[in-house]
Amino acid sequence: MAVSRPRSPLFLQVELAMVIKKKVTILGSGSAGLTAAIYAARANLEPLVIQGLQAGGQLTITSDVENFPGFPNGILGPELMEEMHKQAERFGTQFIYDNAESVDLSSRPFKLKTSSDEIHTDCLIIGTGASAKLLGLPSESKLMGHGVSACATCDGFFFRDKEVFVVGGGDTALEEATFLTRFASSVTVIHRRDSFRASAIMANRAKSNEKVKFILDSVVEDILDVEEGQVTGIRIRNIKTNVVTEHPADGVFIAIGHKPNTELFVGQLELTENGYIKTDGVKTSVKGVFAAGDVQDELYRQAITAAGTGCMAALEAQWLLENEHEEGNSVGKPQAEAKEPVAQKG
Ligand code: NDP
Repeated sequence: MAVSRPRSPLFLQVELAMVIKKKVTILGSGSAGLTAAIYAARANLEPLVIQGLQAGGQLTITSDVENFPGFPNGILGPELMEEMHKQAERFGTQFIYDNAESVDLSSRPFKLKTSSDEIHTDCLIIGTGASAKLLGLPSESKLMGHGVSACATCDGFFFRDKEVFVVGGGDTALEEATFLTRFASSVTVIHRRDSFRASAIMANRAKSNEKVKFILDSVVEDILDVEEGQVTGIRIRNIKTNVVTEHPADGVFIAIGHKPNTELFVGQLELTENGYIKTDGVKTSVKGVFAAGDVQDELYRQAITAAGTGCMAALEAQWLLENEHEEGNSVGKPQAEAKEPVAQKG
């Protein structure tokens, strides 16, 4: 049984000392969060980054990044994030290796809790990104890690000389299908339509790979075999003919897009109908809270656009704080009393 002791003044002092006060706190350490950190740190705002448990964001589970400017020969995703982290650290960014468990955006300073810290922050930049979507089949969750995966880069290695299936028709699905041919004996893409959302270059790369096959106009009905505790096959239905077929399989990779990580902000920030944070530029519905990267971007969802909006969010935070400082520290005053951020100069 837990023993509760009376709280001495010393205990209260220690408890108060656990509150970290910051001008700018950044949630998330993908390219949006780290770019925001670089800019905020260089503006002497001494930002704090709450990294999240998947530190580095989605690029850490990618192999080659070929479209980030400045790397003509491509760069590995984890390496790119490592470099961004070092750059943010160099200018004095502080990092907490934890998830935010709760946020209170009802008044400024905003309050955040991790498993061990409470943070009070004048401005908050949200760069919590998005996570892989799943099909929602019971067999999919039961066999996750036993032949079902949402990350070819992470798990492809385990499918040497095996037959694998990739579900989806976007860039991720076709990139993963091509990547998996390095290991698997055959890769079959299952897509619910007969045309691809993926870019032409990615689609052509997959189509011209002789190890890649396609089953179009089709959806996954079930992944077999839960009773055996591992993937042994896949049941597919053609949505035009309704014909159901079963195919032997060793692995199933789900690559059907991502959902924004916005659970913490439901009821506190305006969200779009798909659950992304609604923004005007990078401003959210709450003054002092900015959102950058995939968490607010349903359209572009690129590392470079995330970095761009991370930069914008840090500049907006900087301008708001400067403005409020000139006004005589209006943090905590009602919204209407605070002046709008000034327009960017030069
Ligand atoms: P997308 O949203 O672009 O594509 C998702 C795909 O999954 C679509 O083909 C969609 O079908 C299908 N899908 C969605 N839900 C289901 C479902 N429940 N059942 C079956 N199929 C489903 O996501 P991606 O992850 O592919 O790409 C995200 C962004 O990242 C894009 O902008 C992309 O260009 C970019 N990207 C760039 C890369 C690169 O340049 N190297 C690599 C990977 C991604 P439908 O088409 O019918 O909607």
